[in-house]
Amino acid sequence: MNLPVAVKRLVDRRELLAPIRGIVFDKDGTLADLSARWFPLFVHIVNELCDDLDDRIALSVVLGVRDDHLVADGPAAVKSEAEVKSLAVAYLVDRGWQAERASRRYDAACVTAPFGPLTPIGDVAGTMRSLAAAGYQLGVATSDSRANTVAELDELGIANIISALRCGDDETIKPSPQVLLGIGEAWSLTPPQILFVGDSLQDAETARAAGCLFVALVGPGSSPVAANTVVVASDAWIQSIDELIET
Ligand SMILES: [Mg+2]
Repeated sequence: MNLPVAVKRLVDRRELLAPIRGIVFDKDGTLADLSARWFPLFVHIVNELCDDLDDRIALSVVLGVRDDHLVADGPAAVKSEAEVKSLAVAYLVDRGWQAERASRRYDAACVTAPFGPLTPIGDVAGTMRSLAAAGYQLGVATSDSRANTVAELDELGIANIISALRCGDDETIKPSPQVLLGIGEAWSLTPPQILFVGDSLQDAETARAAGCLFVALVGPGSSPVAANTVVVASDAWIQSIDELIET
């Protein structure tokens, strides 16, 4: 993939990571493949709510669902459950549905929606253990719900290593800088001591607003356009979190 040469790959870890004492990770698209996990779920929701093809296409565009993947930085990829639901309900209301019926049908579609496999990007558990052993504080800041996030971190084998967790059903959510500033307070670290690793422009904006360093993850499912956008907004880019440790 051709990415801007002006933005460096993470080759000199020592220089970039020298001031860093804590690392916060986005979850979907950073620790695990975004579309593999979430695409089947959103396709199901769209199909449950729409009777004809035109309607399905229109709602898919609203939510950021494409032929076989979720659009990077689209609502389904980066927004909280409540935010995505309100977009879907607003679409249905616009199509003549009553808001209460739309809300009920959306909730019912979620109950039966299937997750795809949770596919780590790289050796997530091994890298997290190495970073913890090297003395870094480790956190996760995601737009996903806390219940699902805790279950997934457990499945990834890193639940007991993560000392700070901020989720989409918390009071403060990305892109508010308070998400990272709050973690910094909990860790007694200043923003320049914290690195945020994420795959979306929303993650880059969250880090920038908080005054934290930002490393972009260009994963296996990243489109060239989306990858370029987030890489330009980053301090460095990697293809998996494995690149954060010396090999
Ligand atoms: Mg993400």
